[in-house]
This record gives sequence, structure tokens and C-alpha cells, in this order.
Amino acid sequence: MVDRDDAVRRFPPELDMSTPTVARAYDYLLGGKDNFGPDRELGEALEQLSPGTKRLAHENRGFLKRAVDHVVTHHGVRQFLDLGAGLPTAENTHEIAQRAVPEARAVYVDIDPIVLAHGRAILADNPNTTVITADVREVDRVLNDADTQRLLDFSEPVCVMLVSLLHCFPDSDDPFRLVRDYLAHMPSGSAVVYSHLCSDDSEAASRFTARVHDSGVPWGRVRAPEECAAALAGLEIVPPDLAGTGRPQLVDCHTWRNEGVTPRLRPQDPAKTIWEHAGVGLKS
Ligand code: SAM
Repeated sequence: MVDRDDAVRRFPPELDMSTPTVARAYDYLLGGKDNFGPDRELGEALEQLSPGTKRLAHENRGFLKRAVDHVVTHHGVRQFLDLGAGLPTAENTHEIAQRAVPEARAVYVDIDPIVLAHGRAILADNPNTTVITADVREVDRVLNDADTQRLLDFSEPVCVMLVSLLHCFPDSDDPFRLVRDYLAHMPSGSAVVYSHLCSDDSEAASRFTARVHDSGVPWGRVRAPEECAAALAGLEIVPPDLAGTGRPQLVDCHTWRNEGVTPRLRPQDPAKTIWEHAGVGLKS
């Protein structure tokens, strides 16, 4: 049983605990303890509205783990720029990468200051990782940050991670353009790890989106898979099957290179109306 008051004690009093944040509500969905009442209320409301939302969060983390491992071991990428990284959880990007390549480096970026507060403590004795607080839409600010510049060498391939992030942005932000804006600064051989909440059911998507907006959280929307197909446009898509011989395509994150699971764009279970559309792209 998680000691909920513990979360209140461990974080600076200036943090606004009265309205939810995406990072803390997602932490709740994952079973973490770095969240407060309004975050848990939003997480529970989403689970009620769209049963399986908690499972989705876990599936998304499973995808992140397999994708980072794949990028390190199959494509030799050793530097990670994890945008909208979220609160530290089990199996963070640097831990997965450094297991395969101990000198792998990771810069975590998140707009929520709670990520910095918690991340610094966890990363204190790991010189190859850092956390910065920034809005990822400010591409130059993120890339020119002193910590980013210190840890990442942009003459070598970098893996840019936008995992469960782009649905946080409204259409007016042109979210998929962000992928290209970051990659424009990366050399060939760089990779993108991507996932995005999506649905074919426009009513389910609207209900989910409206519930998040009602909570006061700045957010984008659940998009249709056809819209999300633009995410990795222009990149070489990694085949989503473990053998690596299948059709390169973006799929339900749970089915991406997952042992014993056939890659599928749409979930097999019709009750799973919302899922994370996901894939890995390479810059040639
Ligand atoms: N990437 C992690 C994962 O997939 O497990 C966390 C995903 S969580 C759903 C989305 C994260 O993006 C949150 O931690 C949130 O604070 C962060 N975020 C949202 N908008 C952002 C922005 N404009 N700049 C930086 N981070 C942002």
C-alpha cells in the first residue's frame, strides 16, 4: 500500500497540488507514488471512462523499453534525448541503454518541475544522465541548454524520444512537425522512438480528450491512426516484427517487437478503443 502523504512530504511546497498534471496522473496510472489527490482523480476518471487506460500506460512503458533496447543493440545509438520523459519509474531510458552500453548518455526533458525534483535525486550519482525542465516545443532552448550540450554530441547519432507526448499538443502546435524540427539537428543514423494515443472511435476519442481538458490540464487530443501516420514521415521505419522482415509500419505499441505478439495497427480486442500508436524511425 502506497503512503500517499509521503508524496506530499517529499516535494517542494511551491508545487501546485490542487490541479492535476500529466506527469503525475500518468505516474498514478503506472502505480507510482509521486502524485496527489487531483492526479489520482483524473487517472481514475480516465480508467472509468476508458477501461484499460492503466494497462495502456504499462503497455506504453513496455514499448519504450523494447524500443530503447532495440535502438542501442541493433542500431548502435548511444545518446538519448527523452522529450516529455515523465517521472522516473521502473526501467528508465538510461537504465535500459546503460545495461547494454554502460557509457550511454541520456538527457531527460520535461515541463513539469516535479520531474526535475525527483529525477535529480535518482540521477545524482550517474554522470551520464541529466534532467532539464523545459517546454519541448522550444527546440533551440532544449538543444542549446548547457546540460544538453555537455552530455550530447550532435555529430554522433542521437535517439530522440517522443513517447506518449505528442497527444499533449493541440493541432495549432503542429505536433508532428516537432519530430522533424528535432531531427533537423541530428546526423544520419539518428533514431526516433514515438508513441501517441489514438482511436478509430471518434466519440471515445472526444470523451477521453474532453475529460482531460475538464481537469484543467493543458492537452491536445486523441487522434485517429490516419492522422498519426504522419508522425515518422520521411524516415526509414523499423519493421515492427521481432524477425525484422515484416512490413515497416507503425502499430499498436503493445504489438511492437513483443515476443509472441503479432504486430497490428489496430488492437485485436474491439473493446480496446484507444491505444498507443507507435514505432521507431531512422534518419538516413
Ligand atoms: N515519455 C514518458 C512515457 O512514455 O512513459 C512520459 C509520458 S507522459 C504521458 C507525458 C509527459 O510529457 C509528461 O511528463 C508531461 O509533463 C510531459 N509534457 C507535456 N507537455 C510538455 C511540454 N510542452 N514540454 C515538455 N514536457 C511536456
